[in-house]
Amino acid sequence: MPMAIAVRTTGGPDVLEHTDIETPVPGSGQLLVDVDAAGVNFIDTYHRSGLYPLDLPFIAGLEGAGTVREAGPDVSTFRAGDRVAWAAAPGSYAEQVLVPAAVAVAVPDGVNSEAAAALLLQGLTAHYLATSVYPVAEGDQVLVHAAAGGVGLLLTQVIRARGGRVIATVSTPEKERLAIEAGAEAVLGYDDFPERVRELTKGQGVAAVYDGVGRSTFDGSLEAVAVRGTVALYGAASGPVPPVDPQRLNSAGSIFLTRPTLVHYVAKREELEWRAGDILDAVRDGALNVHIGGRYALADAQRAHYDLEARRTTGKLLLLP
Ligand code: NDP
Repeated sequence: MPMAIAVRTTGGPDVLEHTDIETPVPGSGQLLVDVDAAGVNFIDTYHRSGLYPLDLPFIAGLEGAGTVREAGPDVSTFRAGDRVAWAAAPGSYAEQVLVPAAVAVAVPDGVNSEAAAALLLQGLTAHYLATSVYPVAEGDQVLVHAAAGGVGLLLTQVIRARGGRVIATVSTPEKERLAIEAGAEAVLGYDDFPERVRELTKGQGVAAVYDGVGRSTFDGSLEAVAVRGTVALYGAASGPVPPVDPQRLNSAGSIFLTRPTLVHYVAKREELEWRAGDILDAVRDGALNVHIGGRYALADAQRAHYDLEARRTTGKLLLLP
């Protein structure tokens, strides 16, 4: 029987339980996939802790890459032996998972499963943030918080590829080095970043702030953005932002504030294929670098969650079944 990581009661990382499961049987529209690598994401910690409630018990995880073992009835897009990746298949912390064919994308030759698993959720996020939420134009100066994180390193590279200029925030010298390698032109600590951003932009502020940190950075993000700029609050690694009075957007400079989420930017199959094709091809062609900061055995999922939440990690964390 395949092994998986179950959550029977919500709580800290210790509730993640390495256990065996029934071999899944693919139904209509589903693929049974042998998982090569499962991606670890912040949202998995929210599901585990109960911040985003799911029906209990459940198998953790959403993201991964692997090889199709069997295609269910009505599936004409993939067949046994195809290599696929996905960002939205519940139960992906497992040796085998059912992936809806509608959310699977083909992995091109030249991209290994670890890179594909590392790319889908965070790479698609970097893509929609930089191309659709605030489409970065040549010469734009923008601010990326937590730039050495999973989304951050990919986002920095995608912005650079569009001709944007990245000011980054990070918490350690090692993370600073990674942000610079990814293309950031200035790297700041968190303490005085709004003032430093003003200095670096000749008092103007940045065209956009990409803020996945949330509670601890949000006020500063509003101070760092230019008149008529965009604050894309896409995450809450430090905790959720309290309610915001819209009048604050006026006094900060007629700011556009958005709280986007990936599902709404890959809702149509064409959009998923466009974004996934862009990032997977960029990795295959050597234009986008995937930094895997931690590889863990499936049975070690607890440690992966501890490390992610303790702010100890860089780039992508993977579970290898
Ligand atoms: P990261 O790899 O970026 O890890 C989070 C980073 O945030 C840390 O490494 C740390 O970097 C920084 N951070 C700052 N304060 C804290 C804190 N108090 N606790 C923990 N970390 C902190 O994670 P991801 O790239 O996976 O995700 C980043 C955020 O984006 C998450 O909130 C996630 O939920 C969200 N997200 C949103 C999506 C969407 O579509 N809206 C899709 C994907 C992710 P440093 O030490 O340098 O400060």
